[in-house]
Amino acid sequence: MGDLEPPATVTTTTPPRRIGILGGTFDPVHIGHLRGALEVADALALDELRLTPSARPPHRDTPQVSAQDRLAMVECAVAGVAPLVVDARELQRDKPSYTIDTLELMRAELAVDAQVFLLLGWDAFCGLPTWHRWEELLQHCHILVLQRPDADSEPPDALRNLLAARSVSDPLALKGPSGQIAFVWQTPLAVSATQIRQLLASGKSVRFLVPDAVLAYIDAHGLYRASN
Ligand code: ATP
Repeated sequence: MGDLEPPATVTTTTPPRRIGILGGTFDPVHIGHLRGALEVADALALDELRLTPSARPPHRDTPQVSAQDRLAMVECAVAGVAPLVVDARELQRDKPSYTIDTLELMRAELAVDAQVFLLLGWDAFCGLPTWHRWEELLQHCHILVLQRPDADSEPPDALRNLLAARSVSDPLALKGPSGQIAFVWQTPLAVSATQIRQLLASGKSVRFLVPDAVLAYIDAHGLYRASN
């Protein structure tokens, strides 16, 4: 018998998972949300981008249709569209949807090295200092600010120091699980849920503004029509 070679030690290192989060009322979800989410997911090579419908949004009016209907529409919209997925946890809480709570819950389920990216439009980012425990957000995630090429507004003073200390110019250079801010330049499609609700309330078509499966759900449940 010849000498037996010891088995080669194979060490595999799995890269950290990259998870994006896009919160919203999704009343209803539309192609602006979906196309924007997909572009960010592709540009940042995300493993998963979680669309997270909010239950009772702290910053805005009560949604026009039920949480169940908004959730069902987002589910229809992302079915089979990897890496977009739905995260329904904010609808399962009987409390206002605070992003910090959602992040803490998600973090508790993820590996410590997972990278979490919170997607925020520029307007939402500027409103950050009014959010519940906003100064703790970066302990749990990076923030990706979706900036429009034509936006020219200045950030509020409360965010200037934070931006100076935490922003990096290249979103692909965001390192580690959390703690930094980067801008992603995006030309949004000129679509809003407000516009879609108005079209439906006046009996007009929203075809091609929402995925066909969402339109079918809206029609089947008579959502947003003037009689609702
Ligand atoms: P509403 O018209 O009811 O205010 P909305 O269309 O802005 O709704 P939200 O559910 O409030 O939709 O949006 C959730 C997130 O999606 C926000 O971060 C928002 O900036 C982003 N978003 C909304 N519309 C677009 C769009 N057309 N393109 C890219 N992102 C969008």
